[in-house]
Amino acid sequence: MAKLFKNHINGKWKASASGEIFENVNPANCNEVVGRFQKSNAKDVNEAIAAAEAALPKWRATPAPKRGEILFKVAELLLKNKESLARDMTREMGKVITETRGDVQEAIDLTYYTAGEGRRLLGETVPSELKNKFCMSVRMPVGIVAAITPWNFPIAIPSWKLIPALICGNTVVIKPATDTPLSVVNFVKIFEQAGLPPGVLNLVTGSGTEVGTPMIEHDKVNLVSFTGSTDTGAVIASTCARNMKQYSLEMGGKNAIIVMDDADLDLAVEGVLFGAFGTTGQRCTACSRVIAHKKIVKKFTDLLVKRTRSLKLGDGLLAKTDIGPLINESQRTKVHNYVQIGKNEGAKLLIGGNYATGKGCKNGSFYQPTIFADVASKMRIAQEEIFGPVLCIIPCNSFEQAVEIVNDSKFGLSSAIYTRDVNRAFQAMETLDTGITYINASTIGAEIQLPFGGTKGTGNGHREAGTAALEIFSEWKSVYVDYSGKLQKAQIEHD
Ligand code: NAD
Repeated sequence: MAKLFKNHINGKWKASASGEIFENVNPANCNEVVGRFQKSNAKDVNEAIAAAEAALPKWRATPAPKRGEILFKVAELLLKNKESLARDMTREMGKVITETRGDVQEAIDLTYYTAGEGRRLLGETVPSELKNKFCMSVRMPVGIVAAITPWNFPIAIPSWKLIPALICGNTVVIKPATDTPLSVVNFVKIFEQAGLPPGVLNLVTGSGTEVGTPMIEHDKVNLVSFTGSTDTGAVIASTCARNMKQYSLEMGGKNAIIVMDDADLDLAVEGVLFGAFGTTGQRCTACSRVIAHKKIVKKFTDLLVKRTRSLKLGDGLLAKTDIGPLINESQRTKVHNYVQIGKNEGAKLLIGGNYATGKGCKNGSFYQPTIFADVASKMRIAQEEIFGPVLCIIPCNSFEQAVEIVNDSKFGLSSAIYTRDVNRAFQAMETLDTGITYINASTIGAEIQLPFGGTKGTGNGHREAGTAALEIFSEWKSVYVDYSGKLQKAQIEHD
């Protein structure tokens, strides 16, 4: 029988009060149970939040450089265990081993970078308008953070939340997605080994309704940090607004690459291939639309289809595999339904469009890499997030029209342009309404030292990673020190 994993509350590994468990299966081989996990409920959530509350005073009073020292150890342990973490991640999530190594590497990079904030956490000192008075701003923790994460970056995304939350002096309860709890269990074990005090980071596994809802409704939670779908984000936003909680949301995307008539087409094909089919199209930044200039659209499409034909599907642990499975059967059904929608809308199916059931794919949730041509921007397949290996090619007549098409979306996460014209590149940077723009590179591949997030339906104005994440996980306090020994009145003593 597969190994049983427990919740982590107040420094102890504990079974859920429910006494129930759920199984996590390998999407490349649905007969393999990766692990058994606690099907937790509100009782476990309450206990975890009480532990986070009890640990908060001591943790926030711990000097930030000391908090950073523990997090540097976390980075070292992630590095030391990179291969086993990546292998477990491929088994539970399906993406190929080179990508799961990249997922862990992203957490390593982010942890080293953000642990260094322990010796910065910069505020401001500004002059006072009055004599003998000092003005400064300092960062304070927000308090208890509820972190809710999706399955597509099982360690990287939790790291974007946990590391900045902890360096800023908050305590945390994390709920991972039910499809990828093992990676977060492994991550929490690393925090434990690094010497994080009990209660500072707590883990509760289970579903969105049974664990997520009591977390976001709990009156002791000060901040909800969420990454996931726009539908769930909307529920979190309204719940937090009603309860006067802070919240940060990172949600869906419908990311596009413009390929201009002067582009290096071979380079553009590789970028589109990686953006559309990497992680089986299950990245929030995945390229799901290509806006190709009519002068090159035929040549570009032929090259792309040829390269797509060469991609190998299979178990992500095998070195020869280019594309792993979708996360589960319900995602495969969703993707297939969208393919039917695309056909009914009149888009031209060039390749793929069905379940992949060949050698090495029989027992998993595999789907053929799929390309539609002659797609119109208003079609549902060009507007809605499919989250699978389905790419739409939309022809355009000009750069201006291409920008219009990219911006004709309720999402605004990532965009890219392939062109050799430097003026066009800068115009694209200015006019594409997305949080991230790449020039001559794919829509995926963000680095942790810059802000990450999107405009419109992708986010609520916050950015993760870089130093921008500190804005989510800390509160500003403005401090005025009057050393004049008399009552001084700002604005009133103006002369
Ligand atoms: P999801 O919204 O279904 O689930 C995300 C998390 O929310 C899970 O842990 C889930 O259990 C929890 N949840 C679900 N309902 C809840 C509720 N009512 N209350 C509280 N928690 C609840 O998303 P998913 O399918 O896991 O992930 C895919 C989505 O995530 C895609 O839309 C993708 O674009 C998005 N995503 C965005 C980013 C980004 O940074 N913008 C990154 C990765 C993924």
